[in-house]
Amino acid sequence: MSVTQDAASSYGHTQPRSVDGNSPDDDHGAAAVPASRDASPGDDRDPPTAQDDYLLVELLCAALAKIRLERQRAGVPARGTDGSGPLPRAWRDARGRLWWKAQALGLDGPGNDLELFDWCRRPLGLWPVPLSLTEVDLEAVLLEGDSLSEFAEQAADLVQHADVEAELVQNQVFAALMLCARMNGGDDGAVQQVYRRLRRLLIDHPVLSDREVQTLARELPAEDSDHDSFLAKFVRIAYVHHPVQTPGKVRLRRCADCRNPLDDRALGCGTPGCTGVAERYEVACLGGYWTQHRATRQFFHDPGLLEGRLLDQVREIAHECLCVEDWPCLDAWDMAVTFKAKEPGAEAECWAVDAKDCSSPALLARGFHCDPRVPARRHIIVVPMHRLRTPGYRADLERELQGRVSGVEVLDEKTFLRQVTVRARQTGGTR
Ligand SMILES: [Zn+2]
Repeated sequence: MSVTQDAASSYGHTQPRSVDGNSPDDDHGAAAVPASRDASPGDDRDPPTAQDDYLLVELLCAALAKIRLERQRAGVPARGTDGSGPLPRAWRDARGRLWWKAQALGLDGPGNDLELFDWCRRPLGLWPVPLSLTEVDLEAVLLEGDSLSEFAEQAADLVQHADVEAELVQNQVFAALMLCARMNGGDDGAVQQVYRRLRRLLIDHPVLSDREVQTLARELPAEDSDHDSFLAKFVRIAYVHHPVQTPGKVRLRRCADCRNPLDDRALGCGTPGCTGVAERYEVACLGGYWTQHRATRQFFHDPGLLEGRLLDQVREIAHECLCVEDWPCLDAWDMAVTFKAKEPGAEAECWAVDAKDCSSPALLARGFHCDPRVPARRHIIVVPMHRLRTPGYRADLERELQGRVSGVEVLDEKTFLRQVTVRARQTGGTR
């Protein structure tokens, strides 16, 4: 569903005050918005300004995600229905910030909301008010036509804004997953076990048959007082149901690598970094099957492909001299790799690892924290090879991490696996 489809009728006209109201129209006054001093792009970026400008962009993206959500609830590009309420507060906050920034630079801000929607379709580096972002991000657009870009989706995911955060589908998926893990796990260890099971399910199963859900329900039977199981709630939030006429096998088409469903005309799967080809396969179902919600695919499945791949490959390297824990401490890190001590009594060495598949290195760094709950000798961010094809990606990431976290290394996928192999060999033999 598009974001700005019919925006003129739904929003531009229902909120006339925003057309001429060129000033911030709520409690974010001048004091809350430090005036920008410098807006030159690239490496000369002024850190406080860059902080402000990233927040501004995140707010806009969060607002675009919220507008899309409301349009989906309204069902259609609706003119004058309940779905066409006022624009989200995040949008007004962002427009306010942009207005103050334009003032400080002696420039014109967006004249109205429609103009700002229009800016969202241009590369950020071409906005009439210059933004202090990394070179890579200055090439990004927020809207591709009427849909959120990959950059905008990821930015919206990172913003902490009460207006939007609780409503983002990915947060609801995560909450339902946690609830299912808590209600089915007797103690911390069991909760962690279920958590792993469900995270892996989201990576390995973009499509689920109702028979598979039934099997899983026997394993995870906890229910609420209405006899609705927490697993069923989780599946309903994370997936979309497709009923079938008669029980039996349904023939579907998917990408052979990432397993995302493909419709008959699609040539590629569209998954970042995936080069898989289409294949036919059959799903045995009783009354229907489930496919992942767009947000589940985008925030759990697609970035999870790297996590799943690394976990599997590290396990392949050497069973006997290392152990891998997936999503330790309920996702404090994506994995903890512990190399057993060579001598009895010596200390084992742990590497805490996060696999990050993110289009913008600056956004990745802004959203990254080094969780202390997993004591580790090395803290490593692993980036897939396809991201590093973007010029400047690694340098931007390393620079943005400076001052936020210390002692975090950035490795590409291949280098990481090579280092695990070498370290395991030092510990005592690989298979
Ligand atoms: Zn694919």
